[in-house]
Amino acid sequence: MIKEYNDFEVWFVTGAQLLYGGDAVVQVDGHSNEMVAGMNASGILPLKVVYKGTANSSAEVLDVMSRAEADPKCVGVIAWMHTFSPAKMWIHGMQRLTKPLLHLHTQFNEEIPWETMDMDFMNLNQSAHGDREYGHILARMRKSHKTVVGYWKDPKTLGHIAVWQRVAAAWADAQDMRILRIGDQMNNVAVTDGDKVEAEMRLGYHVDYVPFSDVLQYFKAIEDSDVDALVAKYNSIYDTSQVLYEDGRKSIWNAAKAELTLRALLEDKGAKGFTTNFDDLGDVDVKISGMGFDQIPGLASQRLMAEGYGFGAEGDWKSAALYRTVWFMTQGLPEGCSFLEDYTLNFAGDRSSILQAHMLEVCPLIADAKPKLEVHYLGIGIRKTLTARLVFTSKTGRGVTATVVDMGNRFRLVVGDVECIKPKPLPKLPVASALWIPMPNFEVGAGAWIMAGGTHHSIFSYDITPEYWEDYAEIAGIEMLHIDENTTSENFKREMRINEVYYLLNKALK
Ligand code: MN
Repeated sequence: MIKEYNDFEVWFVTGAQLLYGGDAVVQVDGHSNEMVAGMNASGILPLKVVYKGTANSSAEVLDVMSRAEADPKCVGVIAWMHTFSPAKMWIHGMQRLTKPLLHLHTQFNEEIPWETMDMDFMNLNQSAHGDREYGHILARMRKSHKTVVGYWKDPKTLGHIAVWQRVAAAWADAQDMRILRIGDQMNNVAVTDGDKVEAEMRLGYHVDYVPFSDVLQYFKAIEDSDVDALVAKYNSIYDTSQVLYEDGRKSIWNAAKAELTLRALLEDKGAKGFTTNFDDLGDVDVKISGMGFDQIPGLASQRLMAEGYGFGAEGDWKSAALYRTVWFMTQGLPEGCSFLEDYTLNFAGDRSSILQAHMLEVCPLIADAKPKLEVHYLGIGIRKTLTARLVFTSKTGRGVTATVVDMGNRFRLVVGDVECIKPKPLPKLPVASALWIPMPNFEVGAGAWIMAGGTHHSIFSYDITPEYWEDYAEIAGIEMLHIDENTTSENFKREMRINEVYYLLNKALK
């Protein structure tokens, strides 16, 4: 189910023409090979770059873009114009390409060889104007793309390409993503709902309703011996010293059975994420019939998130899909990501902050230390009972949180920079949590998020920078509002008003 980056590659296409003679193109081909080999050897790029030759005519551009479009390994194209590549010949190829596109403005030669430079050298190092011609046609066509400017050996340049590669891979992953919605949206919540048809057209993923009676078919098929084995695994991984009594051990056993049930369901349906509903957990008289979960599958959700399955609570399918995308983009990065909810406010002047938690479902990838597996009473929803959960606090430090909301005529990605700080102990609230100060401060940051219509749920990562979200919004063609240390309420409101007009006119332009 989990695709790795080595299942994917990006293509590198060099724009040229035959005006300067075949010999020049042969030399450019050699330069391109050396550049791509150097980029792959840099250790900075998570995906392999595959050089696909020079494109010297409209037919050649259309041919290579058609092949890129058809190849499931190819998740995006990097285009570089070593010289003047008349951009009319790129029109049909760019119309054909729907995969992510990166325009690299670079040059084979680093510094001008002042003493020796002649016209032959110029013919091989003309991206200074070649890339402008290409940039013009992308602008003229309103073609979504990322522009990266810099020398191809510079780690900074490669860093921008690396971010785009991760986003392009996650975009490819989302195009066949299936999210299982177990039960419906809860309690008439508006912000977590939206247009699932538009989501599939615009963002790629598909959301399927799963009635709990379907879940029960998987639940009934779980063998007790498999549950025992998973409980033994929990005991070897986690600190379970808090669980002293038999009823607590029974709760852990039930949590393990819920995890095996959800895992079997997800694997059987080929799904990459799921949502739950704490009012829809099987038979109402589960204590008598045994047909259902004894409480929300909190521990299962925590552990499945850590493996890369998307999760959204209370039917929040947009958060489930976004979590999967964030997890996929940050594979191999060290600090972790999680689904989180704005829980309660802590007013403390300049250090005012928001406690982030959930009833149970916070991903242990963000934990600052080994999580504890604990059992406590949970009295919300249709079940009021003891239940298992991983308890921890998050690491401290800077991170970025994001959400997608449906504005009716567009999806809006709201992105907020935050700083996680150390919380005080919460002896009476035994759940996983983080405590953060939104940028630029609590007053402006929380205010902007609320004015933008952002959710109480969001997907947080320490490893992501706003550049990831800029690339994602560009590829998806959706609005992005970014709240950072430079945000002011006045400018933020102006940006939202301008965007309102832009998205009304955008469809007319296309
Ligand atoms: Mn919630």
